[in-house]
Amino acid sequence: MQQALSAGAAWMNGTIIPISEASIPVTDWGLTHSDITYDVAPVRDGAFFRLNDYIDRFFASMAALQLNPDMTKQQVQDALIDMVAASAMRESYVAMVCSRGVPKIAGSRDPRDCRNHFYAWCVPYVHVIKPEIVASGATAIIAEGVTRIADSSINPMVKNYHWGDFTKAIFEAKEKHVETAILTDANGFVTEGPGFNIFAITGKTLLTSTHGVLAGITRKTVLEIAEKLQLKTEIRAISTAEFLKADEVFISSSAGGIIPIVQINDRVFAGGVCGKTTKDIHHIYWQWFASPKFRTPITYATSNEA
Ligand code: PLP
Repeated sequence: MQQALSAGAAWMNGTIIPISEASIPVTDWGLTHSDITYDVAPVRDGAFFRLNDYIDRFFASMAALQLNPDMTKQQVQDALIDMVAASAMRESYVAMVCSRGVPKIAGSRDPRDCRNHFYAWCVPYVHVIKPEIVASGATAIIAEGVTRIADSSINPMVKNYHWGDFTKAIFEAKEKHVETAILTDANGFVTEGPGFNIFAITGKTLLTSTHGVLAGITRKTVLEIAEKLQLKTEIRAISTAEFLKADEVFISSSAGGIIPIVQINDRVFAGGVCGKTTKDIHHIYWQWFASPKFRTPITYATSNEA
C-alpha cells in the first residue's frame, strides 16, 4: 500500500487512498461555482512547519465562506499527519480542502442546502519556482494584460481557487520568456503573484503589500525574521514605480521558501544576483524550518523521530 501512496495520497471520508483514485462529484459546487477553500502546509525532513498556523488560517477561511465540514482542528491535524505518514513522504506539499459540496435537495440553489466536505491530499514537495532557477534568481514581469481580482469581490485573505487572473498572467510571463508574474491592483499598486507574496528591500527597510494579498505564513515568518535582523518593516500600498526602484526583491511561499527575483521587466536588482539581505532571510528561514519550535514531526512506520 505504501508504494501505491508514494506518488501521492488522499484522505477522503476518513480513508487514505492513492491520489490517482481520489475524486469529487462533477456537480460539487467547489467545481461548478469555485465555492471552495483550501490551504497548503509544507513538510520537510519528516515534519510539518508551523502546522497550527496553517490549520488556523484554513479554519478562518472556512468561517469566512460559511463552510463547516463538522471537524475540529485536531481532527484535521490528525487526518493530515496520518495521510503523510501513510505515504512515507518526508518532503511533501500537503493540501487541506473544504468544498461546498452537492445540494442535499436536488436542484437547490441555496448554499445552505449543501453538505460541506473536507478532504486532503499530499504529493512530493512542490516548488513555485524550480530550485535550479532559484539558485541563480528568478525573473518576472509586472503583468500588463490583467490585474489582480478586486479584493472587494474575492477576499484574497481566504485562500481560493479563483486563479483566472494568475493563469492569464502566467501565460503573459511565458510569452515574455520569464519565470513568473507579479500582479497589480486596478490602481497600479503591487499585490502578489501565482502562489506567492512579494517583498522589496530598500536600504534597511523591508516593504510588503498590505491589501490584495493572502496573509502568507511564509510572509509572517519573513516579518518575524526581519525583526530579528533589525530591519524596519513597512506593510502598505506600494506603487509599481516605487517597487521597481528597490535594492532587492524576493517572493515568499510555502512552496519554496524565500526566492530572489533578480529582474522585473527591464530592471535588474542587486547586479542580477541574490542580494545580501535576501540571502540572510533565506538562510534564517531554513534554519527556523529545522527548529523544534516550529516543527510537528510525523511518526512514520520506520521513523526514529518521536
Ligand atoms: N499568495 C497566494 C495567492 C498564494 O496562493 C500563496 C501560497 O500558496 C501565497 C501568497 C503564499 O502563502 P504561504 O506563504 O502561506 O504559502
